[in-house]
Amino acid sequence: MILDKSHPAQFDADEQRFRHLTVKAHEAGFRLTPQRRAVLRALVFSDKHPGAEELFLQVKGEYPDLSLATVYKCLDMLKAMGEVLQLEFRDGSSRFDGRRPASHAHVICTRCGAIEDATADPFTWCSDDVSIETGYRLERYRFDLYGLCPDCQAQATRQQ
Ligand SMILES: [Zn+2]
Ligand SMILES: [Zn+2]
Repeated sequence: MILDKSHPAQFDADEQRFRHLTVKAHEAGFRLTPQRRAVLRALVFSDKHPGAEELFLQVKGEYPDLSLATVYKCLDMLKAMGEVLQLEFRDGSSRFDGRRPASHAHVICTRCGAIEDATADPFTWCSDDVSIETGYRLERYRFDLYGLCPDCQAQATRQQ
């Protein structure tokens, strides 16, 4: 099941999270310049798991002086606070979830690269068994399901 994106409650949740993060950053001694604040906001308000360059291009419209380094500094700040989930891929690229920093399952489109949250939580199904089997104390997970997103399915059908 995909999270509902059009729900107005999501805006409030994003706003609340954005405020929470600015307070936490302040308390942790990070300086939040207007540019970093804008990057943070763009990330928290996105449900698309953007990459650093996407964030850069998005915020650069508002802050033409923005550098990619500033975007990375903002992401590093969130990582240091444990407030961002980084999804690394084999080609060296990364995408970021600024809404839900804890491990969660994702669906990834193999055609357009869209990434969305799935509500299912694999940790609840298998972590006890795996822990007993291996003796590991488990802390986090990565669970990606690959396929075609609805848009790409529609396009594929049209092209047939
Ligand atoms: Zn797609
Ligand atoms: Zn996510």
